Amino acid sequence: MEFISTATEKDNKIKLSPSNIKKTITQRIICARCGNDTVFFEVARDVTITTFYIQNNDGSFSLKTDDSKIIGDINLYCGECNEDLSKFHNKFVEMIF
Ligand SMILES: [Zn+2]
Repeated sequence: MEFISTATEKDNKIKLSPSNIKKTITQRIICARCGNDTVFFEVARDVTITTFYIQNNDGSFSLKTDDSKIIGDINLYCGECNEDLSKFHNKFVEMIF
């Protein structure tokens, strides 16, 4: 029993070695102007927002669904210096979880 537990620990150490971790980290988006790599904001232009409501018996309304359609461009900006980082937008979208 003790031997099996030691073997498992050894396996974990191999998996977590720095050289293996490095391979799984994706390149971060960094603002070329100010070096910010933390705060970003996205601007969508020409957006149509359609919202459905249900009217309740007492005359109040409850939100049912929210549907927004973006017709125009979507731009990505640095949250520190407002530099246009739209060339990274596709990558940005892939990395939102
Ligand atoms: Zn910046």
